[in-house]
Amino acid sequence: MSEKKFRICIYTILFILVIVFFTKDFNLFSDFYKNIKQVKNPNQLDVLVNKNYQLQEDYMPSDLEEVHVEFAFEHKYLRKEAKNAFEEMAQQAKKDGYQIILVSAYRSYSYQNELYQHYVKTSGKNYADRCSARPGHSEHQTGLALDIMGENGDYNLFEDTKEFQWMRKHAYQYGFILRYPKDGYDITGFKYEPWHYRYVGKDLASYLTKNNMTLDEYYFKKYGK
Ligand SMILES: [Zn+2]
Repeated sequence: MSEKKFRICIYTILFILVIVFFTKDFNLFSDFYKNIKQVKNPNQLDVLVNKNYQLQEDYMPSDLEEVHVEFAFEHKYLRKEAKNAFEEMAQQAKKDGYQIILVSAYRSYSYQNELYQHYVKTSGKNYADRCSARPGHSEHQTGLALDIMGENGDYNLFEDTKEFQWMRKHAYQYGFILRYPKDGYDITGFKYEPWHYRYVGKDLASYLTKNNMTLDEYYFKKYGK
């Protein structure tokens, strides 16, 4: 091979690498936010809401209840069953010497829209899609999802707390799962979120936790894609 050909070859490879590097974040090769389906069973405890399954704009659970301020910021609402389970869990954690505080729970479609648009305006759509969900695609709208913080008072740093370790051991016993595990992005569409939990009921939470399975995988296995 001549030197010239060799150089062209190297430049071509470098060019391809640069293109791959800059496009991998744009989800060009993934199905996220493509082939979007409407959620048909929004009230079921195993409801799947993700970047391909969307809730209607007017969906709002009918049994939302305010979480007791002993364990939550003011005016945080969850569906009745999830709220009772969360309070029971936080109470037991407190008895064990841990402080679990709920910082975000039910979010309406319009509020999620504001959040998402805020990220788009300040940091661009690409960034917004990585750290937030588009309206209708956040499971916070189900009233079954929650973000929590521990002793350090910062949900972003929840993984560093002893409360996180407590949750790892006990969350499933109260019906909660860590919804977006490490290295789960290709399946869940969301990066690792140690602070975000989802209520699915005790039986399913035990099953998913023991089998190290995401809700997405379970749902597709049970209902098909
Ligand atoms: Zn969350």
